[in-house]
Amino acid sequence: MTTHEYDVAVVGAGTAGCYTAATVADAGYDVAVVDRKSEAEAGHIACGDALKGADAFPEAIPKSRLEPAFTNTGVDHGRFEIPQEDTVLEIPVPGELAVIDRWEYGRCIIDGAGDAGADFHYGVVVQDVLQADDGTVTGITGKRNGDVHEFQADVVVDAAGALSILQDKADLSGATFDTNVSYSQFCSAYREIVEVPEPVEWDDALVFKPTERAAGYLWYFPRTSTEINAGLGFQMNEEPMQLVDDLKRDLRHRPEFEGAEVRDKLGAALPTRRPYDSATAPGFVAVGDAAGHVNPTTGGGIAGAAYAGKYAGEQAIEAIEAGDVSEDALWAYNERVMDHYGARYAALDVYNVLSTAVDVDDLMGLLAALPGEKLAEALYGGSAQFGLRLKLVTALKSFGYWSNIWNFYKTKQQADRLLDHYEDYPSSPDALADWQARRDDIMEDVYAVTGADPKY
Ligand SMILES: Cc1cc2nc3c(=O)[nH]c(=O)nc-3n(C[C@H](O)[C@H](O)[C@H](O)COP(=O)(O)OP(=O)(O)OC[C@H]3O[C@@H](n4cnc5c(N)ncnc54)[C@H](O)[C@@H]3O)c2cc1C
Repeated sequence: MTTHEYDVAVVGAGTAGCYTAATVADAGYDVAVVDRKSEAEAGHIACGDALKGADAFPEAIPKSRLEPAFTNTGVDHGRFEIPQEDTVLEIPVPGELAVIDRWEYGRCIIDGAGDAGADFHYGVVVQDVLQADDGTVTGITGKRNGDVHEFQADVVVDAAGALSILQDKADLSGATFDTNVSYSQFCSAYREIVEVPEPVEWDDALVFKPTERAAGYLWYFPRTSTEINAGLGFQMNEEPMQLVDDLKRDLRHRPEFEGAEVRDKLGAALPTRRPYDSATAPGFVAVGDAAGHVNPTTGGGIAGAAYAGKYAGEQAIEAIEAGDVSEDALWAYNERVMDHYGARYAALDVYNVLSTAVDVDDLMGLLAALPGEKLAEALYGGSAQFGLRLKLVTALKSFGYWSNIWNFYKTKQQADRLLDHYEDYPSSPDALADWQARRDDIMEDVYAVTGADPKY
């Protein structure tokens, strides 16, 4: 067995792990990033390749380091194809948007964290979590080619992505760490990188289309005008879809894909749920997908993962400097996540809950009737306000969907209540249980209004 000692051990060389490591290393602390992939494969991660908000990414890895991976910065809107209504909605996407080469981006962030001073350990599959008698996490163990590697650290950061094994292995029952996590709160997604013979006309748009059944969507994101990231996903509380075949079928019906060649295929799970109520335990912090830091309506998780990495890194440093890695000492990390995007994502999750309870055709009809810019606000902001004139226009256009609109309106009221409640996120772990009880009361109302089965 080989033993390694670090201030911080990070599991996962994805976005959350690299930003954590860069933050910690920048401050002069020793940090290891452990990933199961080989050095050559690291950074090759299933993704739609749409990167939103890159203009405001944390500085631990400067934006200039990422830019070589930005293959299309001319994208400025979403194109929602609604075949049921024979409609295409063009919706502006607020903020800076790029389509990227995800593997190249993966190498850029690894290089960025490496330059900051992080040590990378590739090919190590982490299999267990070390804990002291009082439950404090003190390290991890993994295997590389049959050899056991132990990483001892003051703080372990779980950046191992969706359904992380660390959370199965660690006993976190003595902490507030959120263990109310199940497969049904995740989405199963798959994507292909497809080369088309002629440039597509929509190389300035992210194209979305609902899947024929189940709460899911297909996407076509142009990395360049001839290299398209084509994929789809469905919520795992639904009957499983045949992702590869369903994608193939849709591609066959699109003339621009005639003669196209598939260059790469990957699939994975991603959380489409509210962020973990608490992602801290003594000596332990979860970041990115491992803590549900994804916009549950769009599936976008890169920006949340980068910021979670920054906040976790900074909190780990503060705790180590104070000589106290207890849950109290790490708690401010949860507050920063909730304050930045966690509350918003929790409110957006309410619309996800609604989508599982309404008919896809009805929902699409309703979407087609709503003004695009308001939809954009709702998708990214967690809430939208309608002016009176717009309300009237919408009401006329959406005649036939009025009961759905009423339903949607009542759901929005619950989402707004939830957003308000998250603004009171507690400032210490002791107050979490009370806060959760009041939040769960609001969720009961969400289920009652939407008619959906409880998600949590
Ligand atoms: C198909 C698909 C499409 C998506 N499209 C988009 C999109 O267009 N835009 C967007 O913003 N987000 C998108 N997302 C979500 C986004 O990819 C994730 O939110 C983001 O990658 C999360 O980063 P992360 O660092 O938390 O985890 P990951 O990027 O998943 O990184 C986890 C790392 O941990 C390593 N690891 C896991 N288990 C172990 C172990 N036991 N031992 C050692 N290492 C381990 C993995 O090898 C991996 O390198 C998509 C997700 C999927 C699945």
